[in-house]
Amino acid sequence: MNWLKKTLRFGEKIKQLLKKRPSKTDIENSDWASCCKGPIKKTDLEDNLWVCPGPCGKHFRISSNQRFDLFFGKNNYEILKTPIPADDPLEFKDSSPYIKKLNAARKKTNQDCAVMIAKGKVENIDVIVGAINFAFMGGSIATSEGEAIIFGIQKAVEEKKPFIIFTCGGGQRMHESPLALAQMTRTTMAINELKENKLPYIVCLTDPTAGGITASFAMLGDIQISEPGALIAFAGRRVIEGTVKEELPENFQKAEHVLDCGFVDNIIPRKDLSKKIGKVLSILLKKNSEVNSENNEQTPEFNIGTREAS
Ligand SMILES: [Zn+2]
Repeated sequence: MNWLKKTLRFGEKIKQLLKKRPSKTDIENSDWASCCKGPIKKTDLEDNLWVCPGPCGKHFRISSNQRFDLFFGKNNYEILKTPIPADDPLEFKDSSPYIKKLNAARKKTNQDCAVMIAKGKVENIDVIVGAINFAFMGGSIATSEGEAIIFGIQKAVEEKKPFIIFTCGGGQRMHESPLALAQMTRTTMAINELKENKLPYIVCLTDPTAGGITASFAMLGDIQISEPGALIAFAGRRVIEGTVKEELPENFQKAEHVLDCGFVDNIIPRKDLSKKIGKVLSILLKKNSEVNSENNEQTPEFNIGTREAS
């Protein structure tokens, strides 16, 4: 029966090894991340704008503050305080009270809600920018997030500045149910104000943008940009596969496929976003000559016609 004892002992060893696997919090607090070439130091990743330097070029998810640091440059922008409506209007509870989850998300991210609004300059053009943090309850949109976006847009209208938003998130937050769904209409109406005032609205989709976010403010940009490899979807892949009963392409719902389908105008690597968005704005605001003379360039390089007509 020696073989039986040996097998049981081997099973125990495997169990112990599995028990030792790091938790999600351990991974988040670690100095290391993991990508195609194995472990990578987070400081090296940060030096590379949170993009994998390996062949995969993965654009890691970043917080709202990190986004502003990259887009405007560190300490080169002002965070605007956005209104925060009363917490937990429905007194929602599932596995634990919503208010507990909300407070944990605030502590973890050091943000009041998933959306932050900042003002600053990009390529010498004054802009108002919104950025969603996926680490705050999956970047989901509830009343505070809706208010923040609307506040940013109102500010843009008042100060006659373009509005840019970096989207991510799974959709509307179920803990605020119809109130969260109402933010789809409210943000859409606010964007209409921007358009009536002839102010540019640029959307940059980042990984992952899905659900009610895709079905409202994330798809209404005058120019739709995406970071490489971002997941852009409404319903999930399995739901669609089960509905259409067809095999879907491997890169289905990835930015590159969405570009081919005509839902985004261009895919721009993170390192080029400020420059290219600045260029788009200079065209939309008819400031070409001003920007070009400063940059000593003859013609704008931004190409929004990269997809082929089908
Ligand atoms: Zn990689």
